[in-house]
Amino acid sequence: MAWLEAVPNSGSESRRYRLKNPVTLEPVGDFEAASEHEVRAAVEYARKVQPDWAGLGFEARGRFLQRAVQQLLERQDEFVATIVAETGKPTVEAFASEIVTSCDVLTWYAKRAHRILADRTLPVHLVKNKKLRIAYRPLGVVGIITPWNFPFVLSLNPTAQALMAGNAVILKPSEITAFSGQLLQELFDAAGLPEGVFQVVTGDGETGRALCEAGVDKISFTGSVATGRKIGEACGRNLIPCTLELGGKDPMIVCADADLERAANGAVFGAFANSGQVCISTERVYVVDEVADEFTRRVVEKTATLRQGTGGEADVGSMITPTQLEIVERHVDDAVARGARVLAGGRRNPDYEGFFYEPTVLADVTHEMQVMTDETFGPVLPIMRVRDVAEAVERANATRYGLNASVWTRDRRAGAELAKSIEAGAVVVNDCMVTYGVTEAPFGGRKDSGVGQVNGEIGLRSYCHAQSILVDRFGGKSEASWYPHTEKKLSRMKRMVRWVWGTPLGRLLS
Ligand code: NAD
Repeated sequence: MAWLEAVPNSGSESRRYRLKNPVTLEPVGDFEAASEHEVRAAVEYARKVQPDWAGLGFEARGRFLQRAVQQLLERQDEFVATIVAETGKPTVEAFASEIVTSCDVLTWYAKRAHRILADRTLPVHLVKNKKLRIAYRPLGVVGIITPWNFPFVLSLNPTAQALMAGNAVILKPSEITAFSGQLLQELFDAAGLPEGVFQVVTGDGETGRALCEAGVDKISFTGSVATGRKIGEACGRNLIPCTLELGGKDPMIVCADADLERAANGAVFGAFANSGQVCISTERVYVVDEVADEFTRRVVEKTATLRQGTGGEADVGSMITPTQLEIVERHVDDAVARGARVLAGGRRNPDYEGFFYEPTVLADVTHEMQVMTDETFGPVLPIMRVRDVAEAVERANATRYGLNASVWTRDRRAGAELAKSIEAGAVVVNDCMVTYGVTEAPFGGRKDSGVGQVNGEIGLRSYCHAQSILVDRFGGKSEASWYPHTEKKLSRMKRMVRWVWGTPLGRLLS
């Protein structure tokens, strides 16, 4: 049974889809994919209303976002129910990852944008007769395209930043979680946002493609590497900026002096939270030889205590799509065929009809196995024994991904130093996956894991153009570099160059 199926749309040319619940396989609802024409119309409308939105200023915009928080608090159970119906997450997980983080990001940017994006005056080191002011101007209309694994917060977080920076936003949520995406429209409408400032266009990849071509001023994309490349190409052709937050294959390095109880708990949570469908899931473990047996024993023991299911008492939910479940099956089967040992799980959960895959621990894995090289995006924890930390770092870096990583050691200072040798956008010492939850932390991948960064001050500023405003300080009829060019000017310039970069005092001042 197809779980996202195209349904006939009589009398209309638009594409219509029916979504099903990944746990019960019951229909969740139907939605229509916005056409190219509808996407363009949304962008045009947004462009009309954006200047007034920007003109409101930070305080007024912040009040709208704070109102959205109040709406979210009032309707949290209803929102969580929609997210759970589409994703199969356990209720606690949905609440913690989608609602708690959303309240935080809305509030953080609402309260701080005025300071982070305030005009700045910078001293000019050489051209002393000019005054430099930097003004963070909104880009205009921002297109946001998002995935299905955290369908609410991954849409809301970039939206909050783009709106606070004074932009209008068109959101294209994943077709797999279209109704969670539509919750954002309900939220901002209820918060009283002026019409057209925030619009959701539901649809598939074709709708997303149309958004990239519809004349927006930036695309903020979160999703797979393959789609990220297409979006990067489209933005390059259209000469608009984009941030690409893509996939990962996050390594975990367990040093000999690690607190093994904490590391084992962290490994189990890092690998199985959201059924492993987190871009910063722990996807591979490198544990040094002398503690490998004890670490692995604890991981297997803890995995056995996990409760798979739904509702408030379940730890690990279903997977969101059957396609993703098939990738997980393929990776585990490939590993087993090449000699990996299954220490836990290793199969679909036979107790459920929906897309449940049992939390799986693998040992004796090698880098010839897909499970160690390609993003699995499922509840699988492959553990590899290594000689020492140097080998762990070498193997951690032997990947085309570079999103996130974790290091586990009692020596926190050494851990922070070790972090610098890992080619990843972010590294966590003695914890995992917290990077996205720390709003101040710039977040973004290296290598194939992405381009640009979101979150924190850097992320907020990326929704603006830093406009340099240079003001002449003293006037006068002309400048030394203006016309006419003369030999006299040339020799004066040569003397100046020799003095500024050729004398100790000049070098000091330059
Ligand atoms: P996906 O790339 O298949 O889809 C993401 C979005 O792009 C969807 O809304 C989809 O409709 C749209 N899309 C598809 N084709 C398009 C096109 N040609 N032009 C424009 N838009 C198009 O990704 P997914 O399967 O929804 O998400 C899973 C992936 O996302 C994983 O690889 C995961 O690691 C990654 N991810 C990354 C982060 C991060 O912050 N780095 C966070 C979450 C998920």
